[in-house]
This record gives sequence, structure tokens and C-alpha cells, in this order.
Amino acid sequence: MRAMVLDSPRAPLREMRLPRPKPGAGHILVRVSSCAVCRTDLQIADGELTHPKLPLVLGHEVVGFVEGAGEGANRFKLGTRVGIPWLGWSCGSCRYCQSGQENLCEKAKFTGYTLDGGYAEYMTADERFCFAIPESYSDAHAAPLLCAGLIGYRCLSKSGKAERLGIYGFGAAGHIVCQIACQQKRKVFAFTRPGDNEAQAFALSLGAVWAGDSKTLPAEPLDAAIIFASSGDLVPQALQSVAPGGIVVCGGIHMSDIPSFSYDILWRERSICSVANLTRCDGEEFMALASRFPIKTSVKTFPLSEANEALTHLRNGKLKGAAVLTMT
Ligand SMILES: [Zn+2]
Ligand SMILES: [Zn+2]
Repeated sequence: MRAMVLDSPRAPLREMRLPRPKPGAGHILVRVSSCAVCRTDLQIADGELTHPKLPLVLGHEVVGFVEGAGEGANRFKLGTRVGIPWLGWSCGSCRYCQSGQENLCEKAKFTGYTLDGGYAEYMTADERFCFAIPESYSDAHAAPLLCAGLIGYRCLSKSGKAERLGIYGFGAAGHIVCQIACQQKRKVFAFTRPGDNEAQAFALSLGAVWAGDSKTLPAEPLDAAIIFASSGDLVPQALQSVAPGGIVVCGGIHMSDIPSFSYDILWRERSICSVANLTRCDGEEFMALASRFPIKTSVKTFPLSEANEALTHLRNGKLKGAAVLTMT
């Protein structure tokens, strides 16, 4: 099978022919159809996330079809379409796993980071961590749901009942969360890189009531803000935009250092939290929501062999929505 392999951080991915992997006990063999490209992939490739397995096949927003099953794996029929997310395995017995917080399991394994992922024609996965995909989505349009959608949904849950919601960074996750939030009758304020008129217009077209530069304050204070961009500078910026009692959610992406800031902008019960990984429960809830309410994912497809180009587009901020690798 063909795969794009990371040999070492900061080197381009290398196209290779590898033997098709064999599913172990409880695992399925999946013929990959589409795999979305996440900013986390870029951070792994660039050496900002420092403990990948090497060599590594990146990719944790995978849509494919079950083509084989290891011993005892019987959850999905052959031919079923499944999605494979970032959380690839958790221990099931630690205090986090036992209390509904498997996203924090210290022994957890992650697809496309400590396990091989979906920048390949085939991969294996623990069937307990895979999801069925709502029928109404094509493979390529479903792929960004697996991380941008799912982690975005966990961030939105953390923002509680916020009526006025800020979204900092309007890429793959932002454009999905905006649609869900608007459908829930929240008012969305979209913050983009200064001067990114295209992303601002895109946000308004998806229902945001306001769009502007991340360095400006919104027209009215927010109840919550979610940051999907990787710049720690945005944390004090977002804190200044939220009203007393509001929350700033750091949305699941590894951030640069947060500069020090005046206590005044945290005072009056504002809070900051981070989102790490996902639970299977988030995935089930989010997929149920995605089947009730059609989310329009904006995708730009690249053939598998152009994975490096897709990463470069993401690095340069040149994407509207999500990049998706397609295998055929
Ligand atoms: Zn991701
Ligand atoms: Zn655990």
C-alpha cells in the first residue's frame, strides 16, 4: 500500500510502499478513503509536538471502509463505513477512564501520533474507538468532522449556554462550530488574522453576526470565546472580549506561550480552560447531532501524494475550511 511517512520532524513526508497492516485482536483493517489534515498534524511534522512514534503515518480524521477484522473484532460488518479519530486507545482502568474522562488517560494512544494514522491506503484501528458516520455526508466532507468537528463540539460544550460566542481562528474547526452555534440560536463573533477579509466574509456567510480582526474588540462583550488558533497571544486578547463570568476555551490545539497580563482582565469570575483530546461519548453525541443537522464542511481535496502541499497550505493560512487527502 502507499503511505506518506514522517521519518523525522521538520523533514517532508516521504511517499513509500509499505506492507498492508494486519489487524490485531479487537482491531479492524480499514481501507482509507479520505483523511482530513489537522493543524496538529502540522505541529507533529514541524516538531512542536515532541513525542511522536517514528517513523509515523500522520492523520487522525479518517474515513474508510472495514475490509478485515482481527480476532474477536465483530462490532462492524465488512464494508461498513467508519470514522477513526485522534483517541485511538485508552486503558479503561485509571481514575480518568473510570470517571468519564478517558481523554485525560495517561496511557492513552493517539492516532497519527503514537499510532499510525490515515495518510495511507490502509490502516488498522481498535474497533471500540471508531464511529459510524452519518449517511448524508460524502467521505471527503465527513473527514473534518472527526477532529475539527468533534473537538470543536467539546469546546462548544465547555462554553456552556453562552449566547454571545467568540471564535478565534476561523479554519476547519471554526467553520463547523459556527454552524452548530448559529443553529442553536447563539450569536457568533468571528475573529481572524488581521486583514483576512476572505475568512471574515466566509464567517458572515455561515451566519456569524460579526467578523473582524483578532486584535480588535467585538461590538458587544462575549459570554464565551473559543480559541482555535495556536497563538498564546490570543488568550489575553480573548479575555478582554468576554464579560464578567465569561470563559475562554483554548480549543484543543497546542499553543505558544501565553504572555503575562493584568489581573483585571481575569477578575470578576472570568475563567480560562483548555480542551484536550476527546472522549468516545463526545464522538457519539457529535455524530448524532451531525446526522440531525446537516453541517456543510468546506473542503479542499488533495491526492495522498500531495500531503506535503496540503500541510504547506495549512501552514500558510491559505485554506478556506479543511484540507482533505483522498486516496483514489
Ligand atoms: Zn486534530
Ligand atoms: Zn486510563
